[in-house]
Amino acid sequence: MAVTALERKLLIGGEWIETGDWIDVASPYSGETVGRVTKAGADETRRAIDAAEEAMREPLPAHKRAEILVRVAGHLGRRHDEVARTISDEAGKPMKAARVEARRAMSTYTFAAVEARKLAGEMVPMDASQAGEGKLAFTLRRPIGVVGAISPFNFPLNLVAHKLAPALAAGCAVVLKPASQTPLSALLLAELETEAGLPPGWLNVLVGPASEIGDVLIEDERVKALTFTGSGAVGWKLAERAPKKRVKLELGNATPVIIAEDADIDSAAQAMAANAFSFAGQSCISVQRIYVEAPAYDRFLERFLPRVEELRLGDPADEETDVGPVIDEDARERILEWIEEARAGGARVLTGGELDGELIRPTVIAAAGPELKVSCEEVFGPVCTVNSVGSLDEAIELANGTRYGLQAGIFTTKLETALRAAQELEFGGVIVNEAPTFRADQMPYGGVKDSGNTREGPAYAVRELTDERLVVIDL
Ligand code: NAP
Repeated sequence: MAVTALERKLLIGGEWIETGDWIDVASPYSGETVGRVTKAGADETRRAIDAAEEAMREPLPAHKRAEILVRVAGHLGRRHDEVARTISDEAGKPMKAARVEARRAMSTYTFAAVEARKLAGEMVPMDASQAGEGKLAFTLRRPIGVVGAISPFNFPLNLVAHKLAPALAAGCAVVLKPASQTPLSALLLAELETEAGLPPGWLNVLVGPASEIGDVLIEDERVKALTFTGSGAVGWKLAERAPKKRVKLELGNATPVIIAEDADIDSAAQAMAANAFSFAGQSCISVQRIYVEAPAYDRFLERFLPRVEELRLGDPADEETDVGPVIDEDARERILEWIEEARAGGARVLTGGELDGELIRPTVIAAAGPELKVSCEEVFGPVCTVNSVGSLDEAIELANGTRYGLQAGIFTTKLETALRAAQELEFGGVIVNEAPTFRADQMPYGGVKDSGNTREGPAYAVRELTDERLVVIDL
């Protein structure tokens, strides 16, 4: 389907700026140009930080911040079709999934507005010790300062919303660098924030060479926090380079799911088929490794494989499409290589494992050893493994057996099995009787181990973007 090419400028200090250099944004499905964005570098990044610092000299009261956030949610609702279409065009995300993302961004802004209104410190019970007698103490929550934000390609709207909305709720100005492949949704969101009455400098958006912009955000001491969502390879290096900055990382996963013998197998099979291949598996919590207790293994496959084969591949602009392209050719080649490595390593491809035109067919791999890349690295493609396990112990050990720890899932009808998994799975979130791809935007969301060091969700992000200042009054 033909799309209209958009031209977008950078936002610095409330002005839409052109630098003379442009970056083309191409559809991952058709290769057509869907937009072009003016390109920023180190100079523009410094100017953006100046503007953010200047803006924060005149704090915005909480009620105004909340009103702006509510208005952005309203704009997202009114312009839903345009917003979803922008996500779909630039990311190649099927419209079904793009619509969900657009609605979720409304929810992110709505929750952030609530947080803006209730941002407060707490009383300290001073007479609880002899030393504190005769004193009154409380804390104030202060915005941490200018926030740098770097976001990935796969949720080009809602993951940007998870950076911008809590920062504004916390009273912080932002310098945002969205992914170069998908900057249009972020710039559209910036337009909606401006229309919602955000004063100049509170949001600045730059698109350009990642390391050039990233270096300034990391090295400039006026940027007090950097909130990064993306790959571990980039994220942990940024954190290492700025030990004094609050560097908040939301990184990858190789998401496991355990299906216990006693589970509702039909509902598990349905949830797995829907959540291993949505957006071609390019979600950090896409189902990747399924461990089924041996007595239920055949029953599970009988229900799972036909559902996978029913998924509709095709043009992401088509409202009926379930699975579209991966982001680019490099990603496609890498995923196909990993499938070949699995085959060569003795695993069996039960369905998929090849291209349908330019698209990777949803691929299910059985008997995949833990050393294979599809088992221990993040595939970020429409591929999952299904292994039979002898016991819950073995399943938990395998699920924990990678360097990642974002979210994991278990299907069981036994309370004690669910609670045991909740205790023993080493992940930031354990989801019971639902795919671990599940996320509602108010949840504390984030990982342990290599998957990150923070929690997003407006209430949690606001806390991380504020400092507590203690006030003690001698009575
Ligand atoms: P990526 O390659 O790490 O890129 C993420 C962002 O970092 C992009 O804006 C990129 O800019 C920028 N970047 C790259 N190199 C940089 C550098 N040296 N300095 C500063 N910034 C730099 O990740 P991706 O491929 O876009 O996203 C996929 C990854 O994100 C997966 O691992 C996925 O699991 C993870 N993810 C995690 C979560 C979560 O919440 N935990 C959510 C979604 C995705 P350019 O685009 O300009 O290169």
